[in-house]
Amino acid sequence: MASSETDIVILGGGHNGLVCAFYLARAGLKVTVLERRGVVGGAAVTEEFHPGFRNSTASYTVSLLNPTVIAEMELARHGLRVVERRMSNFLPLPDGRYLAAGEGRTAAEVAKFSTRDAERLPEYERRLEAVADVLRALVLETPPNLPDGGWLDALPEMLKSASVAKRLGALGLTGRRDVLDLFAKSAGDWLDGWFESDPIKALFGFDGVVGAYTSPYTPGTAYVLLHHVFGEVNGRKGVWGHALGGMGAITQAMAAACVEQGVDIRLDAPVAEVLTEKGRAVGAVTEAGDVVRGRAVISNLHPRLLFDRLVDPAVVPADFTERMSRYASGSGTFRMNVALGELPRFTARLEPGDHHTAGIIIAPSLAYMDRAHAEARLHGWSREPIVEMLIPSTLDDSLAPPGQHVASLFCQHVSPELADEDREAVADLMIETVDRHAPGFKASVIGRLALGPRDLERRFGLVGGDIFHGRLTLDQLFSARPVLGHADYRMPVPGLYLCGSGAHPGGGVTGAPGRNAARSVLKDLGRLRRSGL
Ligand SMILES: Cc1cc2nc3c(=O)[nH]c(=O)nc-3n(C[C@H](O)[C@H](O)[C@H](O)COP(=O)(O)OP(=O)(O)OC[C@H]3O[C@@H](n4cnc5c(N)ncnc54)[C@H](O)[C@@H]3O)c2cc1C
Repeated sequence: MASSETDIVILGGGHNGLVCAFYLARAGLKVTVLERRGVVGGAAVTEEFHPGFRNSTASYTVSLLNPTVIAEMELARHGLRVVERRMSNFLPLPDGRYLAAGEGRTAAEVAKFSTRDAERLPEYERRLEAVADVLRALVLETPPNLPDGGWLDALPEMLKSASVAKRLGALGLTGRRDVLDLFAKSAGDWLDGWFESDPIKALFGFDGVVGAYTSPYTPGTAYVLLHHVFGEVNGRKGVWGHALGGMGAITQAMAAACVEQGVDIRLDAPVAEVLTEKGRAVGAVTEAGDVVRGRAVISNLHPRLLFDRLVDPAVVPADFTERMSRYASGSGTFRMNVALGELPRFTARLEPGDHHTAGIIIAPSLAYMDRAHAEARLHGWSREPIVEMLIPSTLDDSLAPPGQHVASLFCQHVSPELADEDREAVADLMIETVDRHAPGFKASVIGRLALGPRDLERRFGLVGGDIFHGRLTLDQLFSARPVLGHADYRMPVPGLYLCGSGAHPGGGVTGAPGRNAARSVLKDLGRLRRSGL
């Protein structure tokens, strides 16, 4: 058992913990990161899952990572390279047709199903992009910390902030109506209002149910859709790409940037307790009994883990504890990695091509997704699940032996409470679902890793397997994330902060909560002025 002193103790070395550590160390503070696992990165990590085959274990595709964070941490200099998919998405359909989406080709593809939809597409993209721009302006801002009122009071406050007000003003009335729609409606209602043919609605609607364990017709899912389009890759808005080496390449580059600033990253150091004295957070105690004391304690953990397990309830206001016990967290996602002896041959498109680099979505309509959700609610998982498959080895030869491949299967919907004994049956179903569109796929699988929601919780600390550290519903966003009154990254225990995805702007590999939290800490320590934040 050892005892040490530092300025800042960060619990968890997920990407947001690393981002926060970087900015604080850059401002001249001594920072110690305590990470439970033997590797940094949390849900943005690359691991070997079958001898000779490596892949991102949880998050698998990049777009939301904030360009300011990329530039300020100099992630490219630290080895990060993100490449674009050659086709954005590929939807094989049950009737043997397909929709291929990507720059320069989507409209012509949509016209195969509806010329009216193809004509409406540019206007849809322009209007969605205009709202996404407003969201982009909010990402690196601290939400107004309203102790009174509700989210409905909070959003106008946030929208009044200088940079956002300017953008919102430029939207005009049509754009403002779109903002309201996208914040309140279901993805299904929003998309039904735009398009008539199923494949294009399925393509966009998929983003509305990812990680949400909802029907695309559940109000609020239009926001989840929007959340997935505010990103960019290499300056190209709304595009998704692949980090060479997998998502772990992002967090390895972040760790290198931290080490260069003098951050002390300790692996295999699970924190058992936040140390408090006279009601103030003053450090952390690891499971091994090591004590690290600091002037501020910043948690990268899911907020429920922090308050359920690590903080003495006696120092937390009872109302906050009660709210936190009701903080909604649970995704219907089932994540698989498979090692493949050969590329799949889709009935809809037999020959190898750009579609193998795409996000391959098996979910032909919003009705299919609605049924998948309803069935999962009833039976624990859907017999006709939603599967997105990516084959990153088509863009990155560092992941699999020559001639062989790795695929990420990101599947929805299973119950967040899916029993462990059902895992392998569900994994078989996911593979069979792909096999229906690409006969021979099942036979090509030479190794696999299957993680249900409980596995994601055990491995990464994601409560209910929630990929976002808590649902992205409007009562848990902006000034209400994680709880109204604490959206400024300051938790109700003095000296304790939150820097993970349970804070604004929520989940995804963005780096934004980490950067924003660093700003609050620097302000409280009187170091903000020269920090560049
Ligand atoms: C299956 C899946 C797919 C996803 N796909 C994508 C995607 O393609 N693109 C995208 O942008 N986002 C995706 N996401 C979301 C994204 O990965 C997460 O929102 C993001 O990585 C969370 O980062 P974080 O730093 O906030 O928290 P985390 O990554 O959860 O980091 C928290 C860290 O705290 C550590 N920890 C936990 N308990 C303790 C303790 N007691 N002591 C010390 N350390 C502790 C954990 O080990 C972890 O390293 C996906 C997530 C999942 C699960």
